[in-house]
Amino acid sequence: MKRFSRITISGPEILEYPAARRILENLRRYDLLPYDYAKPEIIDAAAESQRLAFKAPRMAAPRNHAVALGKEVLHLTTHAGAFTKQCPGTNHMLCCQYHVINMVSNCPFDCSYCYLQTYLNQPMTTFYVNEDDVISQVRELCARHEAALATGLAGVSAAGAAGRAAVAGAATSKAAKRPLRIGTGELSDSLALDPITGFSSRLAEALAEFPNVRLELKTKSKNVEHLMGLSRKDHVVIGWSMNPPAIIDAEEHGTARFSERVRAAALAAEAGFGIAFHFDPMIHAEGWQDLYRDSVKTLLERVPHEAIRWVSIGGLRYQPRLKSIALKRRSNTPLFAEDSVTGEDGKVRYLRGKRTEMFQFMNKCFGELAPGVYTYLCMESVPVWEKALGRMPERGF
Ligand code: SF4
Repeated sequence: MKRFSRITISGPEILEYPAARRILENLRRYDLLPYDYAKPEIIDAAAESQRLAFKAPRMAAPRNHAVALGKEVLHLTTHAGAFTKQCPGTNHMLCCQYHVINMVSNCPFDCSYCYLQTYLNQPMTTFYVNEDDVISQVRELCARHEAALATGLAGVSAAGAAGRAAVAGAATSKAAKRPLRIGTGELSDSLALDPITGFSSRLAEALAEFPNVRLELKTKSKNVEHLMGLSRKDHVVIGWSMNPPAIIDAEEHGTARFSERVRAAALAAEAGFGIAFHFDPMIHAEGWQDLYRDSVKTLLERVPHEAIRWVSIGGLRYQPRLKSIALKRRSNTPLFAEDSVTGEDGKVRYLRGKRTEMFQFMNKCFGELAPGVYTYLCMESVPVWEKALGRMPERGF
């Protein structure tokens, strides 16, 4: 992880929170404080966001975007509202009923395709230090889920009318008892800052008592060692976002390399964590079949198949304005070379035939090399599900 250039807080009361003190101690311990650090600066977040947005266009690529500059600033503050929500999914696409906890926004990594570049209004890397509030909200959600399971009311869902209708037809009594999947990787990488914040360990301990809850930590890092002391691990699934090594090297800047992710996954499996892989976003590139097949083969040789709880497959998708942002930052990226189309949900994706071909291929790789490992598609339409996987989502995770 790179050293931050500034540490900021929203007011002096922030330093009273144990999480803020722990983070500052860890930054010092890992030598990540700014070179000229004396104490955190008190800032107005809205004004700072405007300042970064104004400054960014004058910076040299790839720092010429506010979200890039925001990665250099760690901002500690509190949040008064809800920390959890059901993954918003996307209209007309099936949704896996994932719940997200937003405790951090922005990410020290810098993937070329990262949607945060079109999403974050406040670009600083922000961590909410009122951890007790988030933990009590998450525990409340989990308790409600356990109660709903007891009365048979928990079930599958889908975003959009098409998705809901399709999934309603596929719901089974098994699906109606699916555990609650909850995770922290929506507005940041779950583990990139975790050795500094220590948040995942606190969350995992707080959720250990709920038998039907799975906490997923999604990452492109190799940061697992700080989690090894957890008293229970089997309710925690560490999910690695994967791509072939050449694509990671070219497009996933600052992240752990392919071999480092595989090594971390093997270690985590051995320690008793559940493991997930997300081949998402798959990127169309010259020789993609060989690249992806070799990657699947390598990770399945290293990670015990019985530890793999699920594998998701998805294609590159983005808001139309991401393309010009990404090209301004990295003009030589081949990310946008393949023909694409804007879908009903307003996102650009590869043409349906190409997506179906890519997803079918990956599903076949897993089917042949690790039969029994559950695969699903992320944010895809009913016809693509049917063609690529030959089935609809219908099982509990
Ligand atoms: S790891 Fe995720 S959140 Fe971080 S830069 Fe990459 S895509 Fe964005």
